[in-house]
Order: sequence, then C-alpha cells, then structure tokens
Amino acid sequence: MKEIIIATNNKNKIREMKEKLARFDINVISQSEAGIEIDVEETGTTFKENAELKATAIYNMIKKPVIADDSGLCIDYLNGAPGIYSHRFAGEDATDADRINKVLEELDGVPDEKRTARFKCCVCYIDKNGEKHFFEETAEGIIGYEPRGTNGFGFDPIFHFEGGERTFAEFSPEEKNAVSHRGKAVARFVDYISNEE
Ligand code: IMP
Repeated sequence: MKEIIIATNNKNKIREMKEKLARFDINVISQSEAGIEIDVEETGTTFKENAELKATAIYNMIKKPVIADDSGLCIDYLNGAPGIYSHRFAGEDATDADRINKVLEELDGVPDEKRTARFKCCVCYIDKNGEKHFFEETAEGIIGYEPRGTNGFGFDPIFHFEGGERTFAEFSPEEKNAVSHRGKAVARFVDYISNEE
C-alpha cells in the first residue's frame, strides 16, 4: 500500500485527505503519526514557496512521499493582503472574528466594485523520487459588509463566492468543496496520484 505523509497537524486536513485517498489504497499519515515534530517556518513570499518549504523539510527528513498546502485570502483593495499572512494578519493570538473585523474595518466605506478578492491554495506533492508537483487553484469572490453563516472557517463568513448572495459560510461543506481553492487543488492532486505508477 502506498503511503503519503501530510505536512500538517490540522485534524480536518488530515481526515479529509485520508477519506479522499482511501479508495485508491493510499494510506495518509500525519506528520505526528510519522514521528516528525517540526514546525516549519513559513518564510516564503508566495503560497507556492511556503507549500514547497513545508513539504521539502519533511521529505528531507523521511525520504518518503509528502504533501503540504498553503492558502489564504488576497484582497485587491489591500494590494493582495492578507495573502500569505492570512493567519497572522490580526496578530498571533487573534481569532477568526478578529481577522474578519480587521478586514471589514480596512474596507470600511469601500464600494462593491472595489471589494474583489480571491482565496488561493497551492498543494505541493513530493513523490518517492523527490520530484515536486504543484497544484494551485483560486476561488474568486467579493468581500461582504458583515459576517454571515456558520459553516466553514476563517474568512468564509465575509466571502461571497463569485459575488453571489451567500457567503462560503452559508455553503454546505460539499458545495464549498466543489468550487473552493483548496477543494479544486486537492482534487487535481488526487487525480494525479490516482494515475501515478
Ligand atoms: P492555512 O493554509 O491552512 O494555514 O490557512 C491560512 C489562513 O488562510 C487560514 O487561517 C484562514 O484565515 C485563511 N483561509 C485559507 N483557506 C480558507 C478558506 O477556505 N476559508 C476561509 N479562510 C481561509
């Protein structure tokens, strides 16, 4: 059975990847299950560089196939911020609500047509030969004026996918997965690996 280490300790990402790869007889192992306790510093300047940094650090330790991802929200009016700093945007100990409030404050008075934004996600897969493969996807949207909905996480309550009525937090998990940056990037990775020798 093939084995892939996933470079995260995020329980949702681990469960999701295990479920998606089980039917291809691929066993997904979290980095802690593999006995790797490193916290890779995300010093890259793009999602791609950060995903590559995380995957490479683990591959170099274990020399087995690894997958890592990096994602965030890029708002045009803020020149692409918070971008790769999405998680740290409102300080180290901030909550999702703090991050959302900061975005809403910075966009105070900004009209609809200037509230364009996109989520981006890059998945980096390093295969058993050490070859790197990247799967990068985006989801376009508009930042709303107040949080709405309780599904999802992060900036979902203020992200109106393709400018529609509902925010990502008002999508079901399945609906979001079908169109989201991460859903699409992971789907392309799964497609790739299901055809790999
Ligand atoms: P990470 O790639 O899991 O570290 O995500 C970085 C940050 O980007 C998260 O903490 C969220 O703030 C934001 N983010 C990434 N993807 C999403 C999403 O699908 N919905 C809402 N926020 C997201």
